[in-house]
Amino acid sequence: GKAAAAAAGGGLVVPEIRFTKLFINGEFVDAVSGKSFETRDPRTGEVLAHVAEADKDDVDRAVVAAREAFEHGKWPRMSGYERGRLMNKLADLMEEHADELAALDGADAGKLLLLGKIIDIPSAVQMLRYYAGAADKIHGESLRVAGKYQGYTLKEPIGVVGIITPWNFPTMMFFLKVSPALAAGCTVVVKPAEQTPLSALYYAHLAKLAGIPDGVINVVPGFGPTAGAAITSHMDVDSVTFTGSTEIGRTIMEASARSNLKMVSLELGGKSPMMIFDDADVDMAVNLSKLAIFYNKGEICVAGSRVYVQEGIYDEYVKKAVEAAKNWKVGDPFDATTNMGPQVDKVQFERVLKYIEIGKREGATLLTGGKPAGDKGYYIEPTIFADVKEDMQIAQEEIFGPVMSLMKFKTVDEVIQKANCSKYGLAAGIITKNLDIANRVSRSVKAGTVWVNCYFAFDPDAPFGGYKMSGFGRDQGMLALDKYLQVKSVITALPDSPW
Ligand code: ADP
Repeated sequence: GKAAAAAAGGGLVVPEIRFTKLFINGEFVDAVSGKSFETRDPRTGEVLAHVAEADKDDVDRAVVAAREAFEHGKWPRMSGYERGRLMNKLADLMEEHADELAALDGADAGKLLLLGKIIDIPSAVQMLRYYAGAADKIHGESLRVAGKYQGYTLKEPIGVVGIITPWNFPTMMFFLKVSPALAAGCTVVVKPAEQTPLSALYYAHLAKLAGIPDGVINVVPGFGPTAGAAITSHMDVDSVTFTGSTEIGRTIMEASARSNLKMVSLELGGKSPMMIFDDADVDMAVNLSKLAIFYNKGEICVAGSRVYVQEGIYDEYVKKAVEAAKNWKVGDPFDATTNMGPQVDKVQFERVLKYIEIGKREGATLLTGGKPAGDKGYYIEPTIFADVKEDMQIAQEEIFGPVMSLMKFKTVDEVIQKANCSKYGLAAGIITKNLDIANRVSRSVKAGTVWVNCYFAFDPDAPFGGYKMSGFGRDQGMLALDKYLQVKSVITALPDSPW
């Protein structure tokens, strides 16, 4: 359609926005309050759409629908194979609409159209198909129970799952959580981030077309303290899975503790170290570390925002990294030659600029960038600070923008100690050809994912989550299914048994 034409011509066409209401029990409906909110195009700051604004009453309605679908509906009762088949149908529909979906996230989140088409949408499809394949492989164990008993475990869907997602990868985040929940036989109430609610509503529509029963997937766009909090404090939500800031993660645990002790899993902030050793190929190191911080404008929880370079190659690295940052083209995300689009909204734009000021004030050396790019929209230049010290705010706090903090190190021990000097522990990168260094650092660094000679190498089969204040619980992999399952031990007395 229109989006495809735009991609081919490199033009600026926003797809027609078809779904702007809440999706509850298989229908698009207005909010009980009749209210709506604006979602903006970060390229211009202009209003893209008015979206129905969910609040407590709407969340209540969505939870009732999800509960009904869970307790009395077909979804948890159909075979895993059948659930997987419907999930695969949804994946087929996503592939059919890939251009339009990539354009939707492109306009709503300022994401590169081209990468949306070749990375975001296909990765989400792959995630869905991975868990579609898992749906008929969820089973318990037989237990070795002493005495005259037999025992086994049953894995049951946990029930109604609340899903709260951030705005940086609207499509991936939706399917990262919804796919295993569906495979497990759960029903879900999803609150997408208020900055990027559009694609989730489209997925609800596609799920209905695929034949996923009404009430299984409900989508309630709205704000965190209202719609989000209504989910996390709801007495009839069994589990909540969240990706977002550490601060809100805390609030969510508190809400669970105060309400019904619903299960909580949190994927939170990061300040991931990228460690580059003397033996590394400097060009390759520059390339990877540039992607690690500037990809998706640094709006990525696993961004390699602290870069440690060993002293032998430091000067060469700095020269080439600055050049690479200058050549990293900032511009319209719908233009195929662009490397980096605008920050998602004004709040983030100003936040990143504030951190750049803090970095200067703390005495770090600004090597390149450091200001807005252009005079319209929320664009920021790729920015590199050198001479950063461990205790500076720009080394400790998550900036969530295209700002690299560069540090020099001498020994392996030193870099391990510095890498772990963070409240976060989401990811880490290692660039070296030395196997002993790679193994030692991989095992010493406190991070949920370690990438050696690569970065952002995600796969649905690789569990993903945090150490320390980056959260707990894992997305992806067969392990993630545990978040959506209850385990029941069944012990039966035997009349008699030879063993
Ligand atoms: P960011 O700072 O990156 O926007 P947040 O953690 O604030 O990240 O937001 C991530 C998601 O959490 C969004 O969907 C947001 O609406 C939601 N959220 C924010 N505050 C709350 C809250 N008090 N309770 C539940 N969800 C919230």
